[in-house]
Amino acid sequence: MDTTHPTRLDAVLRAASMRIDPLDARWLLAHVCGRAQGWLYAHGDAVLSEAQTATFEALVSRRAAGEPVAYLIGSRAFWRLELAVSPATLIPRPETELLVEAALARLPPRRPARAADLGTGSGAIALAVAGERPDVSVVATDASEAALEIARRNAARHALDRVEFRFGDWYGPLAGLRFDMLLSNPPYIASGDPHLSRGDLRHEPPAALVSGPDGLDALRVLAAGASNHLHPGGWILVEHGFDQGPAVRALFAAQGLIQVDTLRDLEARDRVTLGRRPPAPGGA
Ligand code: GLN
Repeated sequence: MDTTHPTRLDAVLRAASMRIDPLDARWLLAHVCGRAQGWLYAHGDAVLSEAQTATFEALVSRRAAGEPVAYLIGSRAFWRLELAVSPATLIPRPETELLVEAALARLPPRRPARAADLGTGSGAIALAVAGERPDVSVVATDASEAALEIARRNAARHALDRVEFRFGDWYGPLAGLRFDMLLSNPPYIASGDPHLSRGDLRHEPPAALVSGPDGLDALRVLAAGASNHLHPGGWILVEHGFDQGPAVRALFAAQGLIQVDTLRDLEARDRVTLGRRPPAPGGA
């Protein structure tokens, strides 16, 4: 290693900030120091060990080459949870918090309910919902064992043992089961989309991102199976691309779902579509 390299925290941070986004540099350095980011501000004169400097330099180089910060530090905040993530899982996005919010607003209040999160990845949606509603049990599925492993670890870390994990594709692991709510952030990017070769998307699992020539393959499967897996009056809520609202509403309507609507994210773009299995005659 270059022995003239600065080892004071502030100098190391300044040097890294010439190569990568200064905020990313802070995330990485806080991770290497095993501290919260705030600690860095008050400890600019702290001296890093040679090992810490080397580890940090290696992470900065990987970040400069495009690897997502969340994979480099192995975690990402979602809702009120800090979640482990790995290249086997999609990195949870703030947009997906809209899905959680909409789900919480529609779960039957004050009575035990069952929800399913299909294609759970790191477990983000399932764990956020279970964390807010102790009376709701959640089944979370994924077709990747490696992703389920991460999701299980996140459930254990947050002591959310009302989430049951099942391996398999979409409704495959849910045969014969009905829920009060179905939730999913499925892959929805079209296979030829140029965004796939940019930014974090280059490093995320293609199976969590891409879904056929129009990006709607998984959403078609989710719509088709909804009524068979919902109790009368139950809701399905799915995330999708900003230009897919009309298509997803049409898929839901074609299945006889009612109260079909699309919600917009903080950037005012179509992001979540929901629909409801008609309540039983004379029922709720
Ligand atoms: N929202 C992600 C993106 O466009 C995609 C996630 C997904 O396909 N579910 O970056």
